[in-house]
Amino acid sequence: MSTTTQKEKTRRFRKKFMAENHLWYSGWPHYLINGTLLFGSCVFLFIQIEELRLIELLAIPVTLVLGSLFVYLVHRYPLHQKYKPVRKQTYDQHTLIHHRFYTNELYQVEPDEEYNSTLFPPAVVLGFCIVFLPGLYFLTRLFLPLNVVYLFVGTSSFYFILYEVVHYISHLSINHWLMRIGYFRRMRKHHLDHHDPRLMEKYNFNIVIPLFDFVFGTKKVVSE
Ligand SMILES: [Zn+2]
Ligand SMILES: [Zn+2]
Repeated sequence: MSTTTQKEKTRRFRKKFMAENHLWYSGWPHYLINGTLLFGSCVFLFIQIEELRLIELLAIPVTLVLGSLFVYLVHRYPLHQKYKPVRKQTYDQHTLIHHRFYTNELYQVEPDEEYNSTLFPPAVVLGFCIVFLPGLYFLTRLFLPLNVVYLFVGTSSFYFILYEVVHYISHLSINHWLMRIGYFRRMRKHHLDHHDPRLMEKYNFNIVIPLFDFVFGTKKVVSE
């Protein structure tokens, strides 16, 4: 498909989507709700920790690696493959909306008037905080010491914040001042190639650290 046609198609999709769904949308309340829920749970969990031993801090890097694997698997499978019971909340939201809002040809988040589909909908973040995190707490409480549980669950929430922030930044303009930082430039490029419709189901599924794209051989570099 020629670049102009693809860009036109993306513009038309955005316009139609906004007209049908998000006339009321404003960016800041979206950032604020997601940020408050995630940051709030993170702080709430970390302040429960008492008499921390140094060795328990190992839970943090372990959670970051597990979080990276979790994101890789969720992104590679339910977000890009159709699994009927969760298709609406996963494949439709991600492949049919996020990837049609932003393709490698028209990749940037535009200012406030446009729906920001880089962030998860607040309902998903709320579900994560009131269902997923307590579930993780009760499950890990069965076999881990309490401080490690709080570190594990709190860092999971922190990883979600990292995901939202790095994904959002990866969709900013290459001329944005944050792109002077090598890490953000590299992650932008990594994710930009994932937004090529021909590559999205096969490559570059990690967002924060491309660790499991290396491990599973799905790291691809195309753009300059
Ligand atoms: Zn994206
Ligand atoms: Zn994707």
